Amino acid sequence: MEHPLNTRMLIGDDFVVGQGDKERILDPATGGLIVEIASASPAQVEEAVAAAQAAFPAWGRTPPRERAGMLLQLADAIDAHAPEFAQLESLNCGKPHHLVLNDELPAVADVFRFFAGAVRAQTGALAGEYLAGHTSMVRRDPLGVVASIAPWNYPLLMAAWKMAPALAAGNTVVLKPSELTPLSALKLAELAAALFPPGVFNLVLGNGASVGATLISRPQVRMISITGDIATGQRVLEAATPTLKRTHLELGGKAPVIIFDDADLEAAVEAIRAFGYYNAGQDCTAACRLYVQKGVYARFVADLGHAVSSIRYGRQDREGVEMGPLISGRQRDRVAGFVERAAQQAHIDVVAGGAVVEGPGFFYLPTVLAGARQDDEIVRREVFGPVVSVTPFDDEMQAVAWANDSDYALASSVWTSDAGRAMRVSAQLQYGCTWVNTHFMLLSEMPHGGMKHSGYGKDLSISALEDYSCIRHIMLKH
Ligand code: NAD
Repeated sequence: MEHPLNTRMLIGDDFVVGQGDKERILDPATGGLIVEIASASPAQVEEAVAAAQAAFPAWGRTPPRERAGMLLQLADAIDAHAPEFAQLESLNCGKPHHLVLNDELPAVADVFRFFAGAVRAQTGALAGEYLAGHTSMVRRDPLGVVASIAPWNYPLLMAAWKMAPALAAGNTVVLKPSELTPLSALKLAELAAALFPPGVFNLVLGNGASVGATLISRPQVRMISITGDIATGQRVLEAATPTLKRTHLELGGKAPVIIFDDADLEAAVEAIRAFGYYNAGQDCTAACRLYVQKGVYARFVADLGHAVSSIRYGRQDREGVEMGPLISGRQRDRVAGFVERAAQQAHIDVVAGGAVVEGPGFFYLPTVLAGARQDDEIVRREVFGPVVSVTPFDDEMQAVAWANDSDYALASSVWTSDAGRAMRVSAQLQYGCTWVNTHFMLLSEMPHGGMKHSGYGKDLSISALEDYSCIRHIMLKH
């Protein structure tokens, strides 16, 4: 490392060493130890919540223009430290360095800039005399302390998605990143501490079962925002029940991709090659559940198998690397288990990949499984790895029915040259997002979030600002 690694959490205005258990932070490309970092003790979690609680009254009253100014300064600081962030994030997650630097870091800074602008341009119901002799007006106010719990697949981006709307709206935040990937959040805390008043942003480290659970159980926490597994979302709901905390759940996904006979097949293959395997498929919107119409099925499968076999995987800084390892040995074994069970079925063809990469690190080959059926495990369950299934379909009705026949409901895409069909199918899909002739495009201005078991609440867009605040009615009798 060119820079000394910060391993201290941020509580109020103090950078403190954790007093809890130590977590081993690994480089997934080698399996080697980067650093050991001590987690927060229960008392330290309480201190962080108390610091956030103490900072809330003043921060909540700070004019939007001033809060926005600090968010803009943070965005500038992130830009200025982008090389360092890219180095930390790619080391900790195994992500190709150039992709973190050129794709993720600009998106992180943009989220802060978007919410800095959005909080100054909110609209709402008009004040007026809805009852004679009384003037009514509506306010939008912050909630208080928000516990933000992030996953390991995009540690910095997910921290930004949670932190930016929460702070813009006037809440204070205690962030807990995944125990596997704390390094970029530690750097973010350094920058935030230099800009925000003490206690507005706090960082605690540690695993979910102890540190995460302690954090979300605190009565002073008014909202829990979590991106993670469905089972984790269910635990969050249980923890939120006694004190009726607001919850914001971004859970898993199993994105259907419907490719009709009249689609631009070359564009579809190129998009699946890119967005089925981006971040080694560890993405809740990954283009992983393909339905391809029978007229083009055979050609599509052949072309996709060929394209996916050419994906260059390897260590973070390897020249031209497109895909890195999985986050952990555990995740790699989980992915391998899904593929092994699928490959045992006679109707499934392993068209590309299908094996662990021998040698150091947690690599798995980019994999295409063709001939999958609607009831197969590989079609129904989230793999969260570089594995795409392909299922042939007969007609529009069948494709829509199969796409919707899922517990997951986050992202989807439709590929066709018929605009009428694109509109008809998009309208019927029960997903938080449907892309037409593209996939994976997320924008700060547009809402992102799921339905069904994929959770609820929106990240990004003005909708996130609304989720992190509440509407109040003020009435004046005159
Ligand atoms: P995870 O559920 O294991 O962990 C997510 C976070 O929750 C971690 O910080 C973890 O420490 C914490 N946590 C776990 N148990 C907790 C508890 N009882 N109390 C409080 N905190 C707890 O998920 P993961 O393995 O880190 O991430 C992968 C999952 O996240 C996948 O299922 C993926 O689909 C999902 N995901 C969803 C989105 C989305 O936008 N919907 C985005 C990215 C990832």
